Amino acid sequence: MTDISPLYLPQPAVINEVIEENSQIRTFVLSFCDREYNEKFTYLPGQFMMVSVPHCGEAPISFSSTPEEPGHIRLSVRRAGRLTNAMHRMKKGDVVGLRGPWGNGFPLDDMVGRDLLFVAGGIGLAPLAAVIRTCIKKRDQYGRISIIYGSRTPSDIAFADDIAAWGMEKDVECLLTVDKAEPGWDGAVGLVTSLFDRADFAPGKQTALVCGPPLMIRAVLSDLGNRGFADEEIITTMERHMKCGVGVCRHCHMDGRLVCADGPVFSLARLRGLEVMELG
Ligand SMILES: Cc1cc2nc3c(=O)[nH]c(=O)nc-3n(C[C@H](O)[C@H](O)[C@H](O)COP(=O)(O)OP(=O)(O)OC[C@H]3O[C@@H](n4cnc5c(N)ncnc54)[C@H](O)[C@@H]3O)c2cc1C
Repeated sequence: MTDISPLYLPQPAVINEVIEENSQIRTFVLSFCDREYNEKFTYLPGQFMMVSVPHCGEAPISFSSTPEEPGHIRLSVRRAGRLTNAMHRMKKGDVVGLRGPWGNGFPLDDMVGRDLLFVAGGIGLAPLAAVIRTCIKKRDQYGRISIIYGSRTPSDIAFADDIAAWGMEKDVECLLTVDKAEPGWDGAVGLVTSLFDRADFAPGKQTALVCGPPLMIRAVLSDLGNRGFADEEIITTMERHMKCGVGVCRHCHMDGRLVCADGPVFSLARLRGLEVMELG
């Protein structure tokens, strides 16, 4: 039989818990079926796994867990198409295939000693949650943490329990907003950028990490630039459809770079170099 490169060989992983974040997003807590593989497995916040389900193909999904809590991987999945809908039908005990970790991850070492500003929209909080959990685990290595999170409606707020817990930590501030209020919501209404005047910004000693839908990213990057953040201080993630995840198929090609192998995490300085159209 032909040897298949481990690059392409998914490892079976069992679902230990399913957390309903909202009607569209579920977090799957998984561990590899091979105990030894599970114990040795590690990754960087910002990296992703290629998740496979029989008859549904594969899709990239970011870690929303921290490698500081080994043995349990969290993948937070928003319903989009075939694979993600199949995952939403799965329950504790079901098995998926996982291939990875792929991609570059957030520059955690460069962030040591700096204040951190997280700006997320919708499922964009998933990869940032991996960084937030890691920074809270290593709290003394980082300065103030500000988290600004926008959802469509109050019912769409994901990671609500995590946000409540993060807000209790020392020097961590969480600000939430929704596009449209619902009865009982007395919080902010408006885009994430509408909260910027309430947040403590400190360009020069703060790194901004931004993840969300492309329109949100565009507005946030532009606003942060106007507030004095240098391009090197702004880190974001790019999403492109990808097939292999390892730099072979070139589906995720972006101005001479590959989102899977060169990203998905990019500083604004690197994106300007690529002249990515969405950023204007
Ligand atoms: C690095 C990375 C990390 C990601 N992390 C997460 C995560 O943590 N959580 C999460 O929920 N999602 C994440 N995604 C997005 C996720 O991979 C996609 O939503 C994926 O397409 C879902 O697969 P699916 O089979 O369910 O849906 P698909 O069948 O792929 O359909 C999803 C949507 O994309 C459209 N579509 C499909 N193929 C194409 C194409 N070639 N060109 C344009 N549009 C197309 C479909 O019409 C549909 O609207 C990530 C993507 C990347 C690149």
